[in-house]
Amino acid sequence: MAKINENFEKLPGSYLFAEIARRTAAYQEANPNARVIKLGIGDVTRPLVPAVVAAMHEAVDEQASAETFMGYGPYEGYDFLREAIVEHDFRARGVDIAPDEIFVSDGAKSDCGNIGDILARDNKVAVCDPVYPVYVDSNAIEGRAGEWDVDAEEWTNIHYMPTTAENGFCPAIPEGRVDVIYLCSPNNPTGTCLTKDELKRWVDYANENDALIMFDAAYERFITEPDVPHSIYEVEGAKTCAIEFRSFSKTAGFTGMRCGYTVIPRDLVRDGQSLNDLWMRRQSTKFNGASYIIQKGAAAIYTPEGARQIAETLDYYRENARVIKEGLEAAGLTVYGAVNSPYVWCKTPEGIASWDFFDMLLEKANVVTTPGAGFGPAGEGYIRLTAFGDAEATKEAVERIVKLLG
Ligand code: PLP
Repeated sequence: MAKINENFEKLPGSYLFAEIARRTAAYQEANPNARVIKLGIGDVTRPLVPAVVAAMHEAVDEQASAETFMGYGPYEGYDFLREAIVEHDFRARGVDIAPDEIFVSDGAKSDCGNIGDILARDNKVAVCDPVYPVYVDSNAIEGRAGEWDVDAEEWTNIHYMPTTAENGFCPAIPEGRVDVIYLCSPNNPTGTCLTKDELKRWVDYANENDALIMFDAAYERFITEPDVPHSIYEVEGAKTCAIEFRSFSKTAGFTGMRCGYTVIPRDLVRDGQSLNDLWMRRQSTKFNGASYIIQKGAAAIYTPEGARQIAETLDYYRENARVIKEGLEAAGLTVYGAVNSPYVWCKTPEGIASWDFFDMLLEKANVVTTPGAGFGPAGEGYIRLTAFGDAEATKEAVERIVKLLG
């Protein structure tokens, strides 16, 4: 008899966005004339830039002739893309990463979710709270999380590190042992960043304890402040303790195209094994490479034209983030994030819980947000708004909130 992976039975339902959609649909049905504006979900809305589209058109045309047709590509990605990544994302920032330390994939979600394949079941995992749910659920699926504690809304074998305004959104180094630590900067959902000093403390902890840091830099392109590290490898010692995840999704509107990459330095060794070799083995077994056409499109963002064009799109979203932040502040709310991030993390008014504030904004301002509590217990008392929407709609949404609260 075939038995299923029982860990799936323990997973909590994917309540958050389903519940948001349910409440939004119910409100819209009861109020068909309401013009609801959605600042909840973290998907982009601007089209691909012309340089990317042209590169992909060209790649499609190449498939029409036997001389230029491409079959299976390298598991780890084409050299043209890995070399462009190394040059522009790392060397240009003074970080020495080699092309064979880059693994191109179909996105950061797959890599964050799959990386556990190369790790033992009995590693103790630490995550920030609130958290991007993929880190937690993927460990749960692999049997690394223990039991779901219904009351605490936490896994018993996962160490939750509150990151709130009280600790400046920097997780405290745990008292006990943890083996695998997930850090995300710029952070989803809080929109805040870790400084070089804060990251250095984690790098030192990981090196001293043979622990491993999973550093998710999916929102790296939104960093505007000069002293915020773009890569964990800007921190001395990180190459012996950290894996970094990057994505073209928010960088260049690739949420539908699907492309990202993971950096595993050659110096990263645990139990006498190269994690770079292990990941190569894992990818060559379970993954047949990202599409050539998509990789051609991704490489186009590193051309001067492509770089200038995606910068314009990023500025468009940054302006939305500024409008949301300043508008909410004008309405008397306390706001975090937004400066180096497309996410605005807003404290709910005194005494109002996340979901209640969500309902209030939906019903009285017709604006959809995301309740912070959906990202973990320490997200209670916050809501998240995203800057990925249409600029006019974003302005209107903010004006409605200001009017409601002002
Ligand atoms: N990491 C974080 C923190 C994210 O918020 C997201 C997307 O929402 C991802 C990774 C996934 O990126 P991708 O679209 O490359 O799979």
